[in-house]
Amino acid sequence: MAVPAPLIDVRNPADGLVVGQVADHSRAEVCEAVRRLRRHQPHWEQLGFAARAEWLLRLQDWLIDHSAQLTDVVQSETGKTRFDAAIEVPAAIDLAKYWAGNAGGFLAEERPTPHSPIGLTKRLITRYRPYPVIGIVTPWNLPLLNPCFDMFSALMAGAAVLVKPSEVTPLSACELARGWAEIGAPPVFEVLTGGVETGRAVVDEVDYVQFTGSTATGRAIASACGASLKPCSLELGGKDPAIVLADADIDRTAAGIVYGGLFNSGQVCISVERVYVEARVYDRFVDCLVKQVRELRQGHDGRGFDFDIGAMATPGQCDIVTRHVEDAVARGARILTGGRPAQSGAFFEPTVLVDVDHSMTCMTEETFGPLLPVIKVADEHEAIRLANDSDYGLSATVWCGDRQRGEWVARQLEVGAVNINDAFANLVNFAVPMGGWKNSGMGARFGGASGIRKYCRQQAILVPRGPEMKREPLWYPASKSRARLVTTLMRIFDGRGRRRLPFRKGQ
Ligand code: NAD
Repeated sequence: MAVPAPLIDVRNPADGLVVGQVADHSRAEVCEAVRRLRRHQPHWEQLGFAARAEWLLRLQDWLIDHSAQLTDVVQSETGKTRFDAAIEVPAAIDLAKYWAGNAGGFLAEERPTPHSPIGLTKRLITRYRPYPVIGIVTPWNLPLLNPCFDMFSALMAGAAVLVKPSEVTPLSACELARGWAEIGAPPVFEVLTGGVETGRAVVDEVDYVQFTGSTATGRAIASACGASLKPCSLELGGKDPAIVLADADIDRTAAGIVYGGLFNSGQVCISVERVYVEARVYDRFVDCLVKQVRELRQGHDGRGFDFDIGAMATPGQCDIVTRHVEDAVARGARILTGGRPAQSGAFFEPTVLVDVDHSMTCMTEETFGPLLPVIKVADEHEAIRLANDSDYGLSATVWCGDRQRGEWVARQLEVGAVNINDAFANLVNFAVPMGGWKNSGMGARFGGASGIRKYCRQQAILVPRGPEMKREPLWYPASKSRARLVTTLMRIFDGRGRRRLPFRKGQ
């Protein structure tokens, strides 16, 4: 008799109550799921782009029809505010349309022009064939959106998809699987819940790994993939700087940084985690920032949109923020507002720290919490130097009046994306890539054709044009005259100056 999988309790971190249970799937169950997906994938690929787009758009219909219910699930397992949770479904809807509408064009067969007249004897074709089964391993911060970020493009490429959501917030991804089944779509998308061991099994069994999560786990997955020469794409942690130039609109900038740093309780990979402000406006900016942070309402709402800041995803996440604040204070930083965890529930007060420097963990390690440490800098050069002084390179924001100067600063930053006078804009502009530099990742998602071609293997096909000779010039038997003919042609077509001339004596 098969032993049922052990269960994982899913809790709402705002009050600690259990809101659901999911199976902790074994390696054997992962293998079986991958076998099933592998069996159904060829048919899915053969369906073609238009039919696959139709299924994706039916899922989009389902998402729209179930928006409120899905937002309830997101809220229940994350402790987010209604306002923060309510963004996940609309962003997924927008993304579904992007890939349904564009995948066919991005993956259309290409007929490249031969690089040299010698190549004119062939018709050249480049085509894109998907990796059969793509494994998507996701974190807990955007539990519905994180799988959607990567599965829509993978499905549109013609791959089958296995999602392994975080064991902390698996319920939202299970809703996606329910939606896929309810619309009657082909069985090429599954969600398998479980912890680290389930994730390891997924990495071992699939053909391509798309991972979003911490840098430490990303390294472990890259090693596992390296051992089996399996491609992977990694979206990892960040420590995003915000640079405030003296001519910025201070009120708008503070509001943007409050949102960019504290949305989702600061638990976004591209949250603002460090703020560098030009000395001339430092005092005015800090006053404005503190005033706006103090006005935020923190709590546990239902469907009411009553609060701005919700809970952290786990008590452990609160502990990290506490540790970063305590370390900073011990080294001379001052708390201007916030600074403490709540008595009950996984809440941490939105916090502004000043008098910080790069010896403190709050400026070097990812906090992933509602913490805004602020540093005064002399000018944009010091801001750029400090912003780049990080092991991470996910994204950054620049706040300015003169957009040309802002863009110049943006171009000096060693990060995968820079938003000027806005936060998170790159996350919802799918035509540009989202990917981290340095310890923030490898590869990128979105970004037009490259965001879907990564799920494919390229195949080159060369078809002869015109009549075929009995033998190609380089085929056996060896012959000096034919070897010379080839070299002569190369020289004529590729050489420069007198080197293009036919052989001279001694050559
Ligand atoms: P995590 O690395 O602990 O876990 C992420 C997922 O990996 C979970 O599903 C987990 O079960 C699984 N996992 C853990 N070890 C594994 C292993 N050895 N093999 C296979 N799977 C394994 O991350 P987290 O704490 O869930 O998420 C927070 C992190 O995610 C933060 O660092 C954040 O910056 C990052 N993140 C990055 C992006 C991005 O796009 N760059 C987006 C969101 C979150």
